[in-house]
Amino acid sequence: MTCSRRAAPLAPAGIVLLGAAHIGPAATWLPGLRRACFPWLAGEGRLDHVALTFDDGPDPTSTPRFLDALDSLGARATFFVLGERAARHPRLTREIASRGHELAVHGWAHDPAWRPALVREVRGIRRAAAVIAAAGGASPRWYRPPYGILTGGRLVAARRAGLRPVLWSAWGRDWAAGATAASVRATVERDLRGGGTVLLHDAPHGSPPGRWQAALAALPGLVARCRDAGWTVGPLGEHWPRTGGGLPGRARD
Ligand SMILES: [Zn+2]
Repeated sequence: MTCSRRAAPLAPAGIVLLGAAHIGPAATWLPGLRRACFPWLAGEGRLDHVALTFDDGPDPTSTPRFLDALDSLGARATFFVLGERAARHPRLTREIASRGHELAVHGWAHDPAWRPALVREVRGIRRAAAVIAAAGGASPRWYRPPYGILTGGRLVAARRAGLRPVLWSAWGRDWAAGATAASVRATVERDLRGGGTVLLHDAPHGSPPGRWQAALAALPGLVARCRDAGWTVGPLGEHWPRTGGGLPGRARD
């Protein structure tokens, strides 16, 4: 038996292993699994704090409206921006940071990730982090993959860029057809608790223009609900107790 004949049956197994390494981590998209097994990835932090996060910006039409709303609420948040949008709108990206918010990485483009593409992921995330750091004046710390799909390649790429992946524990489904302020607030509040991380969108991606208005209109009620419960609303940078090394400590023992 030649080497090539022996190697042939291993090829399908290799493909299966490669596929599992690629897509296995994406199982963390499932909220129940994430909260139960990976609370740090679900953004579970200090019990007296709720992290407010926005994805998919910046967008010159919608993002300034969110910045104004947050100003009037006296609240700060983390904006997971796309590198290509940050490169197109550096002034707006800078403004997000200058108004007291935190910039984080949502990837270079809002690509799906069903095929392994480690080199492209490494380049894209590094490039996005560099653009965001240049605009915001500080290196980003967090990474949230598009669609919340954390593949093996994205996980490796984030770690190589020095970024910690964070998904969410409550979302508003603010992109969905028919979303309203009331539906967004009710959907968030179903999973809202102290220590949680809320996902909303400050810009449309793949949804009709104007869909962001439901999230914007839901904001005052959501922030008030958190404060009524005694939770401070803020960015991810204030969501975990800091350890001596400056990295987030464990959310809960
Ligand atoms: Zn997104």
